[in-house]
Amino acid sequence: MNIHEYQGKELLRKYGVAVPNGKVAFTVDEAEAAAKELGSDVTVVKAQIHAGGRGKAGGVKLAKNLDDVRKYADEILGKTLVTHQTGPEGKEVKRLYIEEGSDIKKEYYLGVVLDRVSSRIVMMGSEEGGTEIEEVAEENPEKIFREYIDPAIGMQPYQARRMAFNMNIPTDLLKEAVKFMLGLSKVFIDNDCSIAEINPLVTTGDGKVMALDAKFNFDSNALYRQKEILDYRDLDEEDPKEIEASKYDLSYIALDGNIGCMVNGAGLAMATMDIIKHYSGDPANFLDVGGGATAEKVTEAFKIILEDDAVKGIYVNIFGGIMKCDIIADGVVEATKQTGLEIPLVVRLEGTNVEKGKEILEKSGLNITAADSMADGAQKIVSLVQ
Ligand code: ADP
Ligand code: MG
Repeated sequence: MNIHEYQGKELLRKYGVAVPNGKVAFTVDEAEAAAKELGSDVTVVKAQIHAGGRGKAGGVKLAKNLDDVRKYADEILGKTLVTHQTGPEGKEVKRLYIEEGSDIKKEYYLGVVLDRVSSRIVMMGSEEGGTEIEEVAEENPEKIFREYIDPAIGMQPYQARRMAFNMNIPTDLLKEAVKFMLGLSKVFIDNDCSIAEINPLVTTGDGKVMALDAKFNFDSNALYRQKEILDYRDLDEEDPKEIEASKYDLSYIALDGNIGCMVNGAGLAMATMDIIKHYSGDPANFLDVGGGATAEKVTEAFKIILEDDAVKGIYVNIFGGIMKCDIIADGVVEATKQTGLEIPLVVRLEGTNVEKGKEILEKSGLNITAADSMADGAQKIVSLVQ
């Protein structure tokens, strides 16, 4: 799950990581009021969307007076920002962050991610900040430094000092920089982050080390124990089909193809997508209905798949273990009737009560193509959507 920059900064503040003063605003009036309250010489008007690259796309503006704040707020609110992270369709701006302008001396990069190779948390830092870190990694990889953090004991002060030296942060700001890094690594561990990226981290004319941007991603599987983080969720930023799916405890991820898939178990779902690809088809989604799929869940899953106009056929590939095949078959028949399904449907059932399940599908009189194996089903749906 992602959160907005202003929420990320609120979190940083709680851990003693320095950020400029600022306020969220949903309207032009609120933006002006926020700027008045901040009372800084320069005020920054920043679009809040779950994507980076806002600056280049015109989503970050420096205002010298309240009239400019109004002007920029009006310009940015409601605008669809297209950045390298939004995809070509862009994202509509519904919130602004009104922030004190900083007297930037130099911009740095600091990021924390999970490193699966070392099974550790890794902090990456560079004096090449402000620009995209991917570019630095390509052109000047020697300018990116890493510190591997043991999650059991957290980042150690000597690691933060070494990082600050490597990043060439002025020595008179060493203490500030160390405090910043230790705070950031603590935010990461305490809140089950998967990404915490500060780009840019800046040093200022008045001797501060501050976060000017904050990008956080959290491990969705840990959200059950991160209630405060879950409160930051902004449904406007998420795919409506994925939200609907999560209500029914279905794992759904939209893809680009035209074959809707309904499968139980993540492993089987992956294998189903692979075999569709193998027979030159293209899956429209990943959908795992889980081990305990009920007829209701199956029906909801159908509805969600059908909301995608690109879907030209559905492949149901279910292994009846905990869930018996006859129950699944009932669900499929029910869903087919309820949704008035008009596109081809191929069903492959295997496991407990498979004979009963097949019988239910046959007797239903509905236009359902039965498959004898996973490969058979994949071939059938691929040829039916062509
Ligand atoms: P994005 O990464 O989405 O483009 P940032 O928050 O990094 O957005 O802002 C882009 C640039 O705007 C920063 O690199 C910085 O130069 C400038 N900027 C952002 N916030 C401030 C601020 N509070 N004061 C001064 N400049 C800022
Ligand atoms: Mg940035």
